[in-house]
Amino acid sequence: MLDQRLIEANATKLDELHEIMLQQEHPEKLHDIDMKAILIDHGAVAGLNDAVRSLTAGKKILLVTGPTVITDTKNDAVKEKILAQLEADFDVEWLVIREPEGIVHCTPENAAKIQERLPGKDCVVGVGSGTICDLCKYGTFYADKANPLPLVIVQTALSVNAFSDNSSVMLISGVKRTVHSRYPTVLIIDLDIVTAAPPEMNVSGYGDLIATWTAPVDWYLGYMLGMGGNFHTAPSDMIRTQCERLLENSARLAACDPEVIGDLANVLTLSGLSMGLADESSPASGSEHVMSHLIDMASGVRKTGICYHGTQVAVSGIISCLLWDYFLHEFDPKAVDLGACYPSPEEMEPRVRAAFDWLDGTHSAADECWSDYQKKLRRWHDNRDSFRQFLDHFDEFKATVSPWVKDPAYISRCMHNAEAPCRYSVLNYPVDAKTATWAITNCHLMRNRFSIIDLLHFSGVWTDDFVQMIINRAEALDAGL
Ligand SMILES: [Zn+2]
Repeated sequence: MLDQRLIEANATKLDELHEIMLQQEHPEKLHDIDMKAILIDHGAVAGLNDAVRSLTAGKKILLVTGPTVITDTKNDAVKEKILAQLEADFDVEWLVIREPEGIVHCTPENAAKIQERLPGKDCVVGVGSGTICDLCKYGTFYADKANPLPLVIVQTALSVNAFSDNSSVMLISGVKRTVHSRYPTVLIIDLDIVTAAPPEMNVSGYGDLIATWTAPVDWYLGYMLGMGGNFHTAPSDMIRTQCERLLENSARLAACDPEVIGDLANVLTLSGLSMGLADESSPASGSEHVMSHLIDMASGVRKTGICYHGTQVAVSGIISCLLWDYFLHEFDPKAVDLGACYPSPEEMEPRVRAAFDWLDGTHSAADECWSDYQKKLRRWHDNRDSFRQFLDHFDEFKATVSPWVKDPAYISRCMHNAEAPCRYSVLNYPVDAKTATWAITNCHLMRNRFSIIDLLHFSGVWTDDFVQMIINRAEALDAGL
């Protein structure tokens, strides 16, 4: 029986959350959440100055935003209002991060713009969506790892879960990498601000949570195969029930129902915390995220913008749900030829390079992917015994994970009800069939982390025909390409 306080966890009650975690089995596997407070409420931004005062006696504030205009439900300009509010008590320098083409990317170069302004400051206040938050976390942490400046984030859309975790997804040498950074010291989610965000941004947060039905099973699979170091059920148990309710309320989310927006704010924040508890993004980022990362990596070559993260993840999530559905119902462990499951580095390197070399003229993306992939390949070779045992006990594995997955048809139906895009071709920057198929086919070659796709690949199942069959199944659900 699951702890009721765990499955109905409240992100604003950090002390209670800490207590709940101490009562789980193997609490030593769960990491502390290094945050002072999370405020989620209508008008929560009114508490910003008090929050800053609780963190520093100093007066010098660096306010960091992106260039976009943001308004709240009263149609007031959010950033200007926050600037005026801060200026009543503090000396504020306002840094607007810009890029020539408009879209701000999470690059070390943009983080450096923040770092240049940090000397002499007492606190950083970041106002914006995921990119600004990640840049502030990364910039302040790498400026002084031992003693980073206090950081208050005012989240302006429920676009991703990553506000409440201790990592940043950075674009490094053209490759998306999850980099350890830090938590915001205080996170403020004013429901009057996030409710007024473009609906597709909040649908993006809903989409990021579709990974709840695939990432934790990928994580557990990797753990069982000796391919991931740590696993605990609590981070995912904490959000599964509330995510289920969100799925049921998909149509109400599409109608911007304030109660459902409030629920989304809580569970999305908890999803970020679940990654912090695990001290890795695995509870909320599996195969569906890697497909999405590849599409982002291709956007530079295709000269297109980057789609809303969560909506792209959710489309990929339907594909991952279909993979898990196949694995749990059709995969035959007895048909696996163990001797053929271990390709050599000499066989894999050209494949990895062929998958990524077209992305740039310098081979740097392919170098980066191969350097990470070869670690996974080596671990796979080193853990042959785990795979053999896994195949022998496949039914036990299925029994454990079956309650953690969802029928892909149900997920697709809910996403249609939420008016979330279900196809790559209708994302805010439409992704063509060739790019989407490339991303699905090659995503396992990008990084060190193990997923269902690695297992299917090493088992000889992952062929072009198989990928096409999965795409056809998605098509039957009015989803996919
Ligand atoms: Zn995500």
